[in-house]
Amino acid sequence: MIYRAFRNNLETREVIMKLNISNFCITHKSSTCFSKKGEPLSEYSTHEEADRSAAYVSETGTRMVAYHCSICGKYHIKPAEYYFNKSEHGCSCTDHTGKSKCLYADRAEAERMVLLRGKSGIKLYIYKCPSTNGYHLTSSSGY
Ligand SMILES: [Zn+2]
Ligand SMILES: [Zn+2]
Repeated sequence: MIYRAFRNNLETREVIMKLNISNFCITHKSSTCFSKKGEPLSEYSTHEEADRSAAYVSETGTRMVAYHCSICGKYHIKPAEYYFNKSEHGCSCTDHTGKSKCLYADRAEAERMVLLRGKSGIKLYIYKCPSTNGYHLTSSSGY
């Protein structure tokens, strides 16, 4: 009898735990995308879900934004400071290593990146993309 009660109690606790987990916003860790520190990023299947999580984290002080990931096709969140409005369509410009260059949608976004990199002592120059609307950054003044 005592055993039975104990068991029931255990099962009830298990159910409560499961309920708590499903109430909590479940985040999956990405197996393809990692932070700069090498930690897997949390992935969200919808923009709405990522947005909600971003809003939640933002309340703790760091303003977060949700973004669509072109690597895994899902959504991640990152601090607004590190989020840049990059032009979707891109262009065919490449850097000296042959990698396609990041195209910033407007000059203000490019300037934010210059400031951010400047904090780590990297001097960048902004120039207008020769083939489409947008801006690129280069580390040499003569590109
Ligand atoms: Zn991803
Ligand atoms: Zn370009």
